Amino acid sequence: MPGIYVHVPFCKSKCTYCDFASYPREIGKAEAYFACLYKEMKGRSETLKNVTFDTIYFGGGTPSYVDPKFIYGAMKQISKLFSVKPNAEVTLEVNPGTITEEKLKVYKMAGINRFSIGLQTANDESLRSLNRIHTKKEFEDALELLSDYNLSVDVMIGLPNESEVDVKNSIDLATSKKGVNHISLYALKSEDGTPMYTKYLNGELPSEDEVADIYDFSVNYLKQKGYNRYEVSNFSKDGYRSKHNLNYWKRGEYIGFGVGASSFIDGRRFTNTEKIDEYVHCILNNKVAEVFSEVVENDDAKGEYVMLALRTSDGINLADYKKTFGTLFKNDFKDAINKNRPYLEVVGQNVKIKDEYLYVQNTILVDFIG
Ligand code: SF4
Repeated sequence: MPGIYVHVPFCKSKCTYCDFASYPREIGKAEAYFACLYKEMKGRSETLKNVTFDTIYFGGGTPSYVDPKFIYGAMKQISKLFSVKPNAEVTLEVNPGTITEEKLKVYKMAGINRFSIGLQTANDESLRSLNRIHTKKEFEDALELLSDYNLSVDVMIGLPNESEVDVKNSIDLATSKKGVNHISLYALKSEDGTPMYTKYLNGELPSEDEVADIYDFSVNYLKQKGYNRYEVSNFSKDGYRSKHNLNYWKRGEYIGFGVGASSFIDGRRFTNTEKIDEYVHCILNNKVAEVFSEVVENDDAKGEYVMLALRTSDGINLADYKKTFGTLFKNDFKDAINKNRPYLEVVGQNVKIKDEYLYVQNTILVDFIG
């Protein structure tokens, strides 16, 4: 089922590793930004009038950093303009140190029913070196405040000087409340252009092999705690997979609003500008804010489908593949399948990457996308 994504590009400060469309010191533009966001929604509503949405996701940036009236306004606009299933999954990303009881009341009225909290690590020194705005204690406070909700927590691995004990402590803290039904576990990437990239140019980050070992440890430790991996970076208790993200990996349709937001509708992928001023200028002038657009069809569509599905622990459902494309997966990807046979397995009606190779999937996927 299709999803709605809303990008909130404001943050209190910039984390050293961050290359997302997020801007500290721009909070003064929030009023104008959200006015444009509501207008962009209205502009897209006519073409989406026959679509029923199953999930809504507020990502960022730090959506909990802005006045909650804007989130409430966005939800009101969505329910006015779009058809949304009554029990839709509605997620808001929050960061510790930016969430209060007053804000929570507004989120509740707005219909938010799932929160994704950024912990990253339980080590205060590492949090400081990443320029995260919060401490371990502030995460504990946020978790306490949100403990009655359906929660997901972000944990990061591959940090400088990180030990297995550090990761164990982070996972223990992340899973310390019963409301935490989902964990996202990402390896730190030192992206070109970020302060982190410049600082660690000399290779002070753990090696790929060291990160792979920590990842394997985390997968096993999360499993012991009842969180099963269903995608390379995502783990959940039974029945709590993220519907919004599953839709991406199933190559489902979604519409994104706001700066840097991507969409996939009717076989077309398109992305908005990452610049707030340019976005506001376009929308105020009754234009779309797209800076990229492409129609994905034929072999490219098949490659995309396979690449996304193989990220998940379920892999490719052969019947669904045939229903979608009218051809057989084994014929369309004969060479890639033969080359990667040792890494693949058939489970029931599905072809998947064997569990032990899921983390190194990129070296396998490359053969499927040509
Ligand atoms: S909180 Fe998230 S979006 Fe904001 S600067 Fe840090 S990593 Fe980037």
